[in-house]
This record gives sequence, structure tokens and C-alpha cells, in this order.
Amino acid sequence: MKKSILKLLESKIKGEVHNEKYFRNFYSVDSSSYQLIPQIVVIPTDEEDIIKTIKIAKKYKTSVTVRGAGTGLVGSALNHGIIIDMKKINFIKINKKSAIVGSGILKGKLDIELQKKGKFFPPNPSIGNFCSLGGMLGNNSSGSRSVKYGSTIDNVKEVTIIDGNGKKIQLPKNKKISKKIFQNILIDDKKIPKTSKNSSGYQIKKVTSNKEAHKIIIGSEGTLGII
Ligand SMILES: Cc1cc2nc3c(=O)[nH]c(=O)nc-3n(C[C@H](O)[C@H](O)[C@H](O)COP(=O)(O)OP(=O)(O)OC[C@H]3O[C@@H](n4cnc5c(N)ncnc54)[C@H](O)[C@@H]3O)c2cc1C
Repeated sequence: MKKSILKLLESKIKGEVHNEKYFRNFYSVDSSSYQLIPQIVVIPTDEEDIIKTIKIAKKYKTSVTVRGAGTGLVGSALNHGIIIDMKKINFIKINKKSAIVGSGILKGKLDIELQKKGKFFPPNPSIGNFCSLGGMLGNNSSGSRSVKYGSTIDNVKEVTIIDGNGKKIQLPKNKKISKKIFQNILIDDKKIPKTSKNSSGYQIKKVTSNKEAHKIIIGSEGTLGII
């Protein structure tokens, strides 16, 4: 690892930047059977930290992987480059018929706050309280209530991401980009299996209008941007 990328991150990021061996070892595993030791772990405190990390990583041609709670079963929160742990982006704002949350919030914490108001978030993977909302969106998690309420993708109205250039994009709020996403989707129905859930590739079938453009992000496992 180039010392300069570490120094630059340490000087620019308000949150935590680590490259101690025990940190790198901790973040080298998730709930899969894989292991990839990262060079650096960043724990951002806000959006600005994420944007700066992406821009610095791009400058140094270093790959970035976003991590929620690390409960995923396929190693998709692992990387040799930089890991961004979203655990401090964990705000919750509950409205009448929706909630706005930071992607690092654990599902268990959201459940407690919703319960106080007599509400609930339908997706319910059996890992339960321990996964983050970002990871649930990343994986398009389902679980026991999915037959009635659908998967995570069916229960999210808006998504804000930071893309690979460090640009903040709100979908479907950003009408220009939403239109572009919808217009560029070509579906060959014969190639899409007729199942109630399909976890293969991006969920293009769910993007049925500009207003559904955010659904391209859900199930994209962090490959299109950081939620
Ligand atoms: C015991 C067990 C039972 C499970 N049962 C079910 C089940 O019944 N149904 C079901 O659908 N799933 C199930 N799962 C899988 C579950 O959906 C995932 O473990 C969970 O959603 C991952 O959340 P996480 O916060 O741990 O994400 P991580 O494991 O940290 O990350 C998962 C993926 O999401 C991406 N990601 C994380 N945060 C963000 C973000 N902020 N922005 C963009 N991408 C992000 C990561 O890069 C990675 O690709 C189970 C898992 C376990 C271990």
C-alpha cells in the first residue's frame, strides 16, 4: 500500500481511518467462508467523508467496497482495497407513512423505533436484528413476510447514492438521471425466469418507469454506488 493514500485519507476524513493489522483482519471476513484482507478501513461520519474517500480512492486507483453489518453470505462485503463501514451513518426519521434512515442503521434498531409508533418495515430476513438497512438494500433482502409484502425493493421509495465519481445522486428525485436509467433498460422477457424472486443481476424488471429508477440500485450489492 502507498503510504500517501493513507496519509491523505487521515488528513481529509472526519471519521475513522485504520490500517492496523487487527482492524484489517477483522474486516477481512464476513459471514461467508471467504477472506480478503483490505488495505484500509474507513468509518465515515457523514456524506462528505464518503465523497472524499471515493475521490481519493479513484485518484490512487484503489477499489472500494461498502460494508453494512457483514452478515452477507457470499463475501460481497470483502475487498483488498478500501472498506467503507457505514455503521456511523445511522440516523432515523419516522414520518407518517415512511421512514428516512441512514444506511448503517441496524434493522433491529429501526424495528424498535417503528414499534414505538405502531409501525413496521416488512422485509424480514432471518438474520433479523443484526443486518443493516444498507445491506438489506444491497442484497434486496426478503424473509418470512415476503409473500405478502414483497422484498426490500418493493418497500423503498427513494434512494440517495454516492456514485463511483463521488457524485451524490437522489433517485427517482433526480429526474434527468432517472429518465436516462429507464430509457436505457432493455428487457428480453424470454431470458428472465418467471419466479417471485430473482437475485441474478440488476433488478431491471422492477424499473417500470422513471419513478422506479431507484430500484436499479436495490440488489446491486454496492456495485452502482454507496447508499
Ligand atoms: C443466518 C442468516 C439468515 C439469513 N436469512 C435471510 C432470509 O431469510 N432472507 C434473505 O433475503 N436474506 C437472508 N440473509 C441474508 C441477509 O439478507 C444479509 O445477510 C443482509 O441483508 C446483509 O446485510 P448487512 O448489513 O450485513 O450487509 P453486508 O453483508 O455488510 O453487505 C451485503 C452487501 O450489501 C452491500 N452494501 C452494504 N451496505 C451498503 C450500502 N450502504 N450501500 C450499498 N451497498 C451496500 C455490500 O457491499 C454487500 O455487497 C440471511 C443471512 C444470514 C447470515
